Amino acid sequence: MKKEKVDILIIGAGPSGSVAAAYLFNAGFKVKVVEKNKFPRFVIGESLIPRCMDHFEAVGLLDCLKKKKFEVKTGARFLQGPKVCEFDFSKKHTKGWDWTWQVPRAEFDKTLTDELLSRGVDIEFEKEVLAVDFKEDRSVTTIMDEEGNSSEIEAKFIIDSSGFGRVLPRLLDLEKPSEIPKHSSIFTHVKDVRRPEGWEGHRITFDIVSQETWLWVIPFSNGYTSIGYVGPTEYLESFEGPTEEKLRQMMKLSDHYHDRFAGLSYEFEPKMIKNIAKSVKQLYGKGYVLTGNSAEFLDPVFSSGVTFATESAHLSAKLIAKELKGEEVDWETEYSQYMLEGVDVFSTYVKEWYTGNLQKIFFNDSENPVIKEQICSVLAGYVWDKTNPFVKNHHRLVKAVAHFTDLEKENASLS
Ligand code: FAD
Repeated sequence: MKKEKVDILIIGAGPSGSVAAAYLFNAGFKVKVVEKNKFPRFVIGESLIPRCMDHFEAVGLLDCLKKKKFEVKTGARFLQGPKVCEFDFSKKHTKGWDWTWQVPRAEFDKTLTDELLSRGVDIEFEKEVLAVDFKEDRSVTTIMDEEGNSSEIEAKFIIDSSGFGRVLPRLLDLEKPSEIPKHSSIFTHVKDVRRPEGWEGHRITFDIVSQETWLWVIPFSNGYTSIGYVGPTEYLESFEGPTEEKLRQMMKLSDHYHDRFAGLSYEFEPKMIKNIAKSVKQLYGKGYVLTGNSAEFLDPVFSSGVTFATESAHLSAKLIAKELKGEEVDWETEYSQYMLEGVDVFSTYVKEWYTGNLQKIFFNDSENPVIKEQICSVLAGYVWDKTNPFVKNHHRLVKAVAHFTDLEKENASLS
């Protein structure tokens, strides 16, 4: 059996694995990435938020992405019947990136791995991690290729960036039920032949068809658009027939988008992912760390997935470099607490979206520009900026402002 030794083994070549690999390779370590699929491969998660630009820039992966001319995303639009709420990332409390992209992930992820390969990073595709054996000061990972041949990789550290593959959470029994409500999603791509001209047709839109059910419309620069519904699992399952039929039925719920996409053929049989939210008992252990979706996934509603994937990859890679150079690392405070603080802020927004409180604020008739800028920073992914009251006091502020909005409405109806 083939055996090799590396400093760091990275499982999965999505954005999380790529950012971690770029950082550690730049830092001079012997890095190996093993990826189950052949790229390009489809994966969902197409609307980015600005914070991830910091990570791609930090590891030198921004220029290759810029060349691809992906659709630029400068904000987000939420619709609820006749009401419209638009966020512009240039008007936000926290300084930072005010744009990002809407991307077909097959091309986006392949751009990252092509760039890494061109630099000499060792990435092996169509190699699946099957088992990991942790020893005192190293681990031995068994991988298998398409023909069923096994080989072993000895590593000082493992980064599990396997996304929904959740390799180490499965192997080490780290799975934990998520506190986020049980939601599922059905989605596909369409050739957007009736796309309106100008900005109107290009911006990402969330059409809120009921408190817990919404449609995303994510136009790409290649003329295709991603459409997908998210809603309670039981509700999505109540639509009859195969997933294509379910999605076609659900598209009728959208007054804004039904006509634009009616009768168009779907680029692939719509996919359904059930009970999306994932959580784990711990984010690290001796000789390993979990990043991206392999660690925690909340909900697609504010497009935070890729940003958490790159944030956790960049941070964990820095800490591994420190540790392998012989410096002390406190994984609990420097990694786990930091990541969970950000997850906690975002999960308040996800939960308060589905309680309806955040929707009250978004769709309130009178708009408070300061509050809007502070919430906009959260939606841009700057969830560690404690100068933002909507970060620092997230637990009570969203509830309090929603309550105040109710009172305002009551007063208006009395006068
Ligand atoms: P991935 O991109 O999933 O990459 C993991 C890689 O690991 C894969 O290539 C996989 O093949 C590989 N792998 C798995 N198992 C193994 C194994 N055993 N051995 C070797 N390799 C393996 N995020 C956003 O930012 N914006 C959005 O708009 C958005 N929308 C979403 C909508 C839905 C319905 C869902 C479910 C998620 C959405 N997300 C979104 C989240 C997004 O999909 C993820 O957060 C993001 O892809 C995580 O990146 P990653 O690098 O951690 O994992």
